[in-house]
Amino acid sequence: MGREMTDRTIKDNLIDLLTIYEKMGFDSLPEAVFKVPKSDKEALLKAIREDIGDCTRCKLHTGRKNIVFGEGDPGTRLMFIGEGPGADEDETGRPFVGRAGKVLESLINKMGFRREDVYIANIVKCRPPGNREPEGDEIAACRGFLERQIQVVAPDAIMTLGNVSTKTLLSTDKTIGQMRGNFCDYNGIKLMPTYHPSYFLRNPSKKIFTWNDAVKVLNYLGIEVINTK
Ligand code: SF4
Repeated sequence: MGREMTDRTIKDNLIDLLTIYEKMGFDSLPEAVFKVPKSDKEALLKAIREDIGDCTRCKLHTGRKNIVFGEGDPGTRLMFIGEGPGADEDETGRPFVGRAGKVLESLINKMGFRREDVYIANIVKCRPPGNREPEGDEIAACRGFLERQIQVVAPDAIMTLGNVSTKTLLSTDKTIGQMRGNFCDYNGIKLMPTYHPSYFLRNPSKKIFTWNDAVKVLNYLGIEVINTK
């Protein structure tokens, strides 16, 4: 399963990259342009953040305190993508720092990573009021930024967290209950849908499902599973 990019293409990102190289003083194409070094990924992500600016492209801007861009290692092999910021994220400008964030962090740690070893972002970058799900027009306005972030980070695997991120990136109407646990394709990247961490605040016994999904991702990445349950 894949989807067409809404507004930006790989070519657009390549133009961004070449512009950055030009500013750095290169007058020809660097040999390793298709193996983008981490420092250049950082510059590309910065360019995306600058494009977002003080964004008013959708109605979510009216209630936000901070745009939550996303954070982590631009050179990572693994991205986690949620739905949108909550109150704590809106306050701090950082993704997954509230109660659900603690659950996500414990999963990341159990997988053998530190939080800063992966990249974490959301479908929309501003908090929907009352923590409701983002609406179609809001997703349509914002998703292009995330898609560019994914192109730049170019991870080997993505874990989508919950219905909204899974349905958005895979252009499917299937529920997370139907999708989780099975690898899908997102523009050539292995994508594993799994439950949103907030689900486990109400249903802690269901964490095992997401752990099983995470083990499949670790196996795909060729990383030894240290924790067995
Ligand atoms: S949610 Fe995205 S598109 Fe909407 S205002 Fe925030 S940054 Fe802009």
